[in-house]
Amino acid sequence: MNARLVTSLTNPTVKAVRALHLRKEREVSGRFVAEGLKIVTEAVELGRAPKVLLYGREAADHPLLKKAVATTLAARGEVIEVTQEILAKVSRRDNPQAVVAVFDQVFTPLEALRPEAADCFVALHRVRDPGNLGTIVRTADAAGCGAVILVGECCDPYSVEAVRATMGSIFAVPVVRAEEAAFAAWRRTWPGSVVGTLLTATVAHHEATYRKPALILMGNEQQGLPQDMASLCDVNVKIPMRGRADSLNLSVATGVMIYAATA
Ligand code: SAM
Repeated sequence: MNARLVTSLTNPTVKAVRALHLRKEREVSGRFVAEGLKIVTEAVELGRAPKVLLYGREAADHPLLKKAVATTLAARGEVIEVTQEILAKVSRRDNPQAVVAVFDQVFTPLEALRPEAADCFVALHRVRDPGNLGTIVRTADAAGCGAVILVGECCDPYSVEAVRATMGSIFAVPVVRAEEAAFAAWRRTWPGSVVGTLLTATVAHHEATYRKPALILMGNEQQGLPQDMASLCDVNVKIPMRGRADSLNLSVATGVMIYAATA
């Protein structure tokens, strides 16, 4: 491939890609970084063209990279071959991926969701941990959920950590951001069951009715689901815990709920 070779960390494109590790920079630019040929290929297959594509020499002859390069160039993006040192700085890893790409962020408006499009939708109240969020997006994709809705102030689904944890599902699952009040108003129009999750609930998750499309509402890692959010739900449920653990990890609990709602 005849892409330009860049070896300097002060190259403006390399600096711009590195800056996307900062949330502020992602917000201002509306862009984010995805690492690895698998994730970039996933994006390309879903019709998303990289704005910038960086790759190392060892990946140059891979047919999937060639496809990603062609897609990037066709969409007037920038393709650069870079050194191992630059890849390591861009991805902040000792063993960096050989391909790193920059994409535009996409957020779906709440009003654009079509409840009939899937059996289950997931809403997360004030999720804090990017690893949890990414894992939930991946699980929602695997189970065929219609969207992941971020309610209130949440961590950034487009941080490098969250995107990594999605394993490419960030391109497949609509992600929505909503203020609490807007979510509460929109929820009133929901045609199926709205099921909240509370450690104090008396209904076991497998005993609840999940009228499709089910909307499941999960709480924050530390505080759980506050009363005002729980009261928006038709029913609140608890996943039984038989040992000494007082709660499940948020992403694990969400996985259990998604599969209960889609069974
Ligand atoms: N201290 C928090 C509390 O009192 O709710 C624990 C929060 S838990 C780590 C994070 C979220 O995962 C909860 O808000 C709930 O949505 C879900 N969760 C965890 N364990 C659960 C369980 N056994 N049943 C239902 N939901 C659970």
